[in-house]
Amino acid sequence: MPSHLVLSLLLTALLAVVQCGPGNDHAWGYDKNNGPDTWQGKCQNHLKQSPIDIRAPDVDYALLHRMHFLNYDMDGKIELSNTGRTLFAGGFESWQHKQPMIQGGGLKHRYKLVQFHLHWGQNDAVGSEHALGSLHYPAELHLVHVREGLTLKEALTRPDGLAVVGVFLARTSDPVANNFSPISEKLHELRHSGNTTELKNFRTKYVLPLDTEAFYRYEGSLTTPDCSEAVVWTVLAEPMAISSHQLHLLRQLHNKELVKSDKNYRPLQPLNGRRIQYRPSKFDRVSICSSSAAFSILVTSFTLLISLIY
Ligand SMILES: [Zn+2]
Repeated sequence: MPSHLVLSLLLTALLAVVQCGPGNDHAWGYDKNNGPDTWQGKCQNHLKQSPIDIRAPDVDYALLHRMHFLNYDMDGKIELSNTGRTLFAGGFESWQHKQPMIQGGGLKHRYKLVQFHLHWGQNDAVGSEHALGSLHYPAELHLVHVREGLTLKEALTRPDGLAVVGVFLARTSDPVANNFSPISEKLHELRHSGNTTELKNFRTKYVLPLDTEAFYRYEGSLTTPDCSEAVVWTVLAEPMAISSHQLHLLRQLHNKELVKSDKNYRPLQPLNGRRIQYRPSKFDRVSICSSSAAFSILVTSFTLLISLIY
């Protein structure tokens, strides 16, 4: 056997040992033997975990400003990869002054986009991590932002270190190309765990719905180990479109176990007394309507008072 082949086999064996070692981060997944039930630490015993079911009795109407998506219409190069657990898009740090950011919408800081990734399921009734009234969309995209001025490591230790925007993906029967097409056209290059490819001229607004005004807000965690409770969640109410074929392509991606990765979502977690804020899309009109209603009540009362005096 040639010596370089022996060396390469030895290295592969060493990598396998490192990845399969007990308690190692690389051990978790979504199968029976390594799935969410087996995740340890904060994932098992902390009280502000994600994802959650967004149910009407737990939601409060909130007077929040709209969310600003800065540089989301800038274009740049991203790296797409099949991590064996998700479809991952990174490389935003190299955009420098064009790096996409979010602010407003009740956030106390500005947050920089570092990556986005997806969660999906084995059929259209499951897949999104969050649920609305116990109903799931077939997939959900997470845009992960780090608080400006903090490293990712520092951010993970603060309750508001990360701001993640969740976008539901709703299935459309419309066969025409949609905003997800630039990504889905690359999926054939990402079939196997560890595959990577580049996507040029990408605009982050491609992975946002047209209407970003309405959203749900709550304090939670990463939905993967170590489940750090460092996330201010913004779940957009409006979904973006994904075709049946694109969903099919996602389900064809292979995971670390070299089988089709037909699910990679964490089950719903208990709310444990947390409240969810809802920022409606027609906030300005609602506030104008209510102030004009208040004004008309005032005028009516004044007219009544005058008529009583005279
Ligand atoms: Zn996620």
